[in-house]
Amino acid sequence: MKSLRKVRPDSGLELHDAPLPVPGADEVLVQVKATGVCGTDLHINKWTPSYHFMTAALPVTIGHEFSGVVSALGGAVQGLELGQLVTVRPSVVCGVCAACTAGRPDDCVTRKGIGVSRDGAFADFVRVPARNCIPIPDGVDARIAALAEPLSVSWEAVRAAGVQPGDRVLVLGPGNIGQGIALFAREAGAAEVVVAGHGDAPRLQILRTLGFDQLLDFAETPMAEALAKAASPRPFDAVIEATGVSAVIQLALQVLKPRGVLVITGIHSAPVAIDLAALVRKHHEIRGSYRAPEAAWPKVVAFMEHNQALLAHMVTHTVPLSRALEGFALANNKTATKVMVVPDAAAETLA
Ligand SMILES: [Zn+2]
Ligand SMILES: [Zn+2]
Repeated sequence: MKSLRKVRPDSGLELHDAPLPVPGADEVLVQVKATGVCGTDLHINKWTPSYHFMTAALPVTIGHEFSGVVSALGGAVQGLELGQLVTVRPSVVCGVCAACTAGRPDDCVTRKGIGVSRDGAFADFVRVPARNCIPIPDGVDARIAALAEPLSVSWEAVRAAGVQPGDRVLVLGPGNIGQGIALFAREAGAAEVVVAGHGDAPRLQILRTLGFDQLLDFAETPMAEALAKAASPRPFDAVIEATGVSAVIQLALQVLKPRGVLVITGIHSAPVAIDLAALVRKHHEIRGSYRAPEAAWPKVVAFMEHNQALLAHMVTHTVPLSRALEGFALANNKTATKVMVVPDAAAETLA
């Protein structure tokens, strides 16, 4: 089978021929149907310092946002059937640490990431633990199902923000995570969802298609001015950041109501200066949000089942596995929302 691998601790990825993986007793073999290109994959490709921790796991096939069909079952697997479409939680827990044995797998201390520290899904097949598989309801497209992982990140960010009915919510960053945050904030009952980007016309246009009309582009109006105006009727009840751009943090706090919550989901490459006196006086809270708990996944899949037509707008490009790196290039500029690598897509597909 074909697989896209990080072979050595340096920039670049290689398309390899590899033998078919053999599932262990508690694992299944999944024939991959769609794998999303994530910012993480771009970082791994470029080999940015925050991913050098992967060195010990090399060589490894990357790709962690995916869906596929169960094509072989380990001897001890129950509750999954051959031919079933599943999405897969990429976080593989150990099952033996204190947290795992106490029934708190979300706190596992020796987890491994499918597509980061064990072989992932930019491949024709991937071997995964059966407990990580979430069956997808009939009628949901495999490319929509592959959005489950980024959607779970968005879901968790909205939960962390404590969005309440009637809230005004500001989302900084109109990419795939920000788009999911906007959807789940609206689902949580937010009265207003404002989404901001910088030179982001194509992705803001996707948000318009998703039904959002309060959209800011800081390339047109400077950030401080645009945010002050957006907060002029009343400040935001919650601000959720999905940019990784440190310059937005202090301004985000300035438009947040007293006792409001700022949630950070972006990975910031450098420390950020914050006016702590203002934070104290306004009783502001800053919360980090990253991986969703396992319990979030069924909720995300249920949302997916009822909002498939909406979510389809997020998949802006599909490429075959043989042209995955062209898909990476598309994902690297701000025109694409989500590029899907579909192993058996027609070789000429690039749209
Ligand atoms: Zn991802
Ligand atoms: Zn564990």
